[in-house]
Amino acid sequence: MKTRALAVHGASAPLTPWEFDRRELRSGDVALDIAFAGICHSDIHQAREEWGPAIFPMVPGHEIVGTVREIGSAVTKFAVGDRIGVGVFVDSCRRCVNCLRGLEQYCTEGMTGTYNTLERDGSTVAMGGYSNIFVIDQDYAVHVPENLDMAGVAPLLCAGITLYSPLKNWDAKPGMKVGVMGLGGLGHMGVKFAAALGADVTVFSHSPSKEADAKAMGAHHFVVTKDPKNLAPLAASFDLILNTVSAELDINIYLNLLKLDGTLVVIGLPGKPYAVEAGTLLGARRSMSGSMIGGIAEMQEMLDFCGTHNITSDVEVITADYVNTAYDRTVASDVKYRFVIDASTI
Ligand code: NAP
Ligand code: ZN
Ligand code: ZN
Repeated sequence: MKTRALAVHGASAPLTPWEFDRRELRSGDVALDIAFAGICHSDIHQAREEWGPAIFPMVPGHEIVGTVREIGSAVTKFAVGDRIGVGVFVDSCRRCVNCLRGLEQYCTEGMTGTYNTLERDGSTVAMGGYSNIFVIDQDYAVHVPENLDMAGVAPLLCAGITLYSPLKNWDAKPGMKVGVMGLGGLGHMGVKFAAALGADVTVFSHSPSKEADAKAMGAHHFVVTKDPKNLAPLAASFDLILNTVSAELDINIYLNLLKLDGTLVVIGLPGKPYAVEAGTLLGARRSMSGSMIGGIAEMQEMLDFCGTHNITSDVEVITADYVNTAYDRTVASDVKYRFVIDASTI
């Protein structure tokens, strides 16, 4: 299928218009007309090879919403015209212990990413959502509730699920103190979900100008991190801290904010290791963990939760010609709070 896209052809190259062919439908596949694709910081890390060698040309994009345009002969999950979402992976082995638990993102053979990877045939390069058409196996796509704005839904497919999953896993609820580090695309969804789950929410941000927005999203407290003195009074007071910061930082300052048995979950992937003080961990039986997106069943649960609670991402909708500026503004933490490409302009 002829597909229009935005592609990068090298780590220091800009995104430019490009055309390629997507596969014809297999029996279990659906094809969708993409309406919107979010810009995740992971797109930028990969397009700029900040996580190591990448596959070029690359069509980034793993926050995809659209409408089903065609279905394969064996498709039962979707009908033409349905609102549909696609996230960070498009396939997995379907047999391993983690896939069988609905944790496809932790497939022991490795999930198949939406782009910058080979599909499971070992030869087709996966191409992502900065494009007008997508083809995916029905088992790896989700339904989008009718009441939600499509542009605001796109970021839920990565930013949303990536914060929903750890909040559920560590059981965020009333009475818990939850911290969210970084009010970007991921962080602002963490604030909305943690508040909706009833937790007491604190944002740690290096951008003082974001305070009013954070409070409007449901945060109860806002701490500017530029001056470490602001953090000292909060020592040993948090149950759970979710680190969504995309840049390197001193993680020990935040580990120190955890109370006995508290957990700091690493979500941001700056590409460099953290130096962890053993004494800070053992001094209050603290844990440092990690979390990566969520499985298909949990993605559907998250979208249904959003439908019930009327939660979407705060987005700046852009046209295709603005995408390189949007990358630079994202790196500068200057986005409220996710750029979303209007796919009709590609
Ligand atoms: P984003 O929108 O750029 O947000 C990152 C936030 O980090 C910024 O808004 C900023 O928040 C803070 N920040 C950025 N530079 C900083 C600096 N130099 N010092 C201190 N704080 C800084 O990025 P995103 O799309 O939310 O992604 C965040 C990270 O998560 C990325 O590394 C991405 O690759 C990763 N990620 C992980 C998963 C997963 O499954 N674990 C999934 C998706 C993305 P303030 O302005 O509030 O300080
Ligand atoms: Zn992402
Ligand atoms: Zn598997």
